[in-house]
Amino acid sequence: MGYLGRLYHLIDLSTALVPYHFVKSGRAFTPLRVALMVTHRCNLRCAMCMIVEREAELREKDLSTNELKLILHKIPSRTLITFTGGEPFVRRDIIDLMHHASRNHRINVITNGVLLNDEKISQLLALAPKRVFQKGLILVGVSVQGIGEVHDAVVRVKGAFDKVRANLLKFREERKKWGKSLPLLDIKSVITDENVEQMDKLVDLAEEMGADFCTFQIVNTQDSSYGIEDVPEEAYQTPPPPVRFTKIDALRTQLAKIEERRKKVPFEIRFNPILPPEEIVKRYQNAVHIEDYGCYVPWSTAHIGPTGNLFPCYSINCGNLLEKSFDEAWNGPVFREFRRKLREAEIFPGCEGCCFISYRGKRKK
Ligand code: SF4
Ligand code: SF4
Repeated sequence: MGYLGRLYHLIDLSTALVPYHFVKSGRAFTPLRVALMVTHRCNLRCAMCMIVEREAELREKDLSTNELKLILHKIPSRTLITFTGGEPFVRRDIIDLMHHASRNHRINVITNGVLLNDEKISQLLALAPKRVFQKGLILVGVSVQGIGEVHDAVVRVKGAFDKVRANLLKFREERKKWGKSLPLLDIKSVITDENVEQMDKLVDLAEEMGADFCTFQIVNTQDSSYGIEDVPEEAYQTPPPPVRFTKIDALRTQLAKIEERRKKVPFEIRFNPILPPEEIVKRYQNAVHIEDYGCYVPWSTAHIGPTGNLFPCYSINCGNLLEKSFDEAWNGPVFREFRRKLREAEIFPGCEGCCFISYRGKRKK
């Protein structure tokens, strides 16, 4: 992990660990991060996406611009807001919302990059501050699931790769023209059977685009995060479906290559969650020991679904922010009970594969 990543990780842990260990009621400090799902609509059809099948039904539930602005006002100002979806840029008001949020917050956005036209790229650059700890747009995460036809096959839209590649090139040029180092660029890929042999090529792409991060996400098969309906307790007490993955040798080869590349590239290559290579292989072999893991994230991070419900990670409604204050939901009875249960269990069986999980390194006795 690079300097910034390490610093952020330390702040994250210290924000979470004090209340985790010492506050028995389940209350937490102000969150460091809020992930705000602004829509469940998307212009792509990714094979591994849990939202796609239900998009037609979920799309009706988007909040209006004013409702989202009301929610943005309620989020504490030191909290980093990540705009996510669905695909945030299918909303016509997305730049207006990000502009509104960036007056009081540091913000990020995660996108599939297809809709980032010239105008949007300039608007994103205009939202970036000079320094990473100032308010404004800090990072743009762009998901790229492979090179060329591999990407198109995963997202199930022909021509999507060419489009995102052209937009990334434009972003690189424009950021240079504007003389800005922000927003940072993160190229993000979920490792799957389809793209595993291209992991090194994805690092090449990140290098070509002048990215600041190249992030590989470990596949998550949990099916519980629409942020609209409550999931029952079984969702986190039951292990998620196994990963379907056949190319373990290719994964080992690529992980070794990535370790080598890490020493040479001028940007950070990271895995989400942070895991040693042998643990990544175990995950893809469905051989993880869940008791080797813990989680402190519900003490530092909140999620807000497209209807305004605040939830920890599993879709458990802790209060709708159109009706409640932020703290009424974040430190309300439902969230506090979830934290107490998590602290008692240390980790839930259903957490396997979550990108927030913390690897503790050895089995508990
Ligand atoms: S880009 Fe994201 S939201 Fe859209 S289909 Fe793919 S995984 Fe789902
Ligand atoms: S590891 Fe489990 S408890 Fe922690 S954030 Fe992920 S799903 Fe939630």
